[in-house]
Amino acid sequence: MRDWKSLIANYLQGNPLIAKYFQAEEEEEPMDSEESTESAADEAADAQNLVVPYSMQPGDGIRLQVAYQAEQALVGPDRQLIGYSVFTRNGQHQSVVEYDVVELRKALQRLGTDLFIPASLVPLCSEDGYLNIPTIFHGGPDAEATLATTVQALRNLMVALCYQQRDKVCAFTLSWNEAGRQASISVLGHVTDLRAWLGQAGNLPIVRAEFVRWLERQKRHLDGLPRTRANYPLVEKVVKPDGVLYLKRQPVHQFSPAEAAAGQARGLAMDATWQPKKVQCNTCGSDYWQCPHSTVLDAGVGTTVIGAELVGQFWNDRPA
Ligand SMILES: [Zn+2]
Repeated sequence: MRDWKSLIANYLQGNPLIAKYFQAEEEEEPMDSEESTESAADEAADAQNLVVPYSMQPGDGIRLQVAYQAEQALVGPDRQLIGYSVFTRNGQHQSVVEYDVVELRKALQRLGTDLFIPASLVPLCSEDGYLNIPTIFHGGPDAEATLATTVQALRNLMVALCYQQRDKVCAFTLSWNEAGRQASISVLGHVTDLRAWLGQAGNLPIVRAEFVRWLERQKRHLDGLPRTRANYPLVEKVVKPDGVLYLKRQPVHQFSPAEAAAGQARGLAMDATWQPKKVQCNTCGSDYWQCPHSTVLDAGVGTTVIGAELVGQFWNDRPA
């Protein structure tokens, strides 16, 4: 266990939350990222980091985060979305998921399988180049094979996004139970880097000793890549207390007029998150959430949003 801790500590240098991953801690609300930046070396970068602290560019590499927590007794499909965000509106809590998560389900369906997304989750659309795919749990009699298919679907999705030259940053988290604990690995990067990394990463072993060796191989590979910006984005800006990497959009109303002016001076825009009534597939005319077509995996597929309610506005450096 000590070696494992030191390995994780090497991956998560400077992260004040490391100790927590090894205790059965209660889950907490996502961290607030309102604290000021540490050094004022680069004022422009600070303004950018304050408003879009999770922004990444092609070549920035990827961030990996590993967490072990108390095992959850999960029943249901072998591959299921168990993570979600909570959005509060008029005092009402709503469990939400980003609409584009459906593209991973479509990619899995092309491989002859499926991703269970609870019907209680409300899909929201944000007009930006970021995508959070919350924790996907892998169980059943052959969790390792189930996990391998998810990794293949992610690979296919990244290849397709790159083929379409999408300027997109994506975070995803994969989890499974092993030896009485729930393991999760969370990954964040620009789709260009995610495609390259997934292309060499192979399958993820779930037995801990093999998983550690796999992680060490990933570390060697990533250490061998050209270094662009060191320690960017800051881990504390993109990690939640449960070890999930998460792109937390910054609501416009959280910022003072002076901060807003600084953000706009840096070319940042205020964009919107919507709750669509219906997203219609232009190929088959039915509900895009359920239909087999994909705007990412297929050529010439489009969608039409029919009725949408504004959920909020956030800062964006990357128009969709
Ligand atoms: Zn369709």
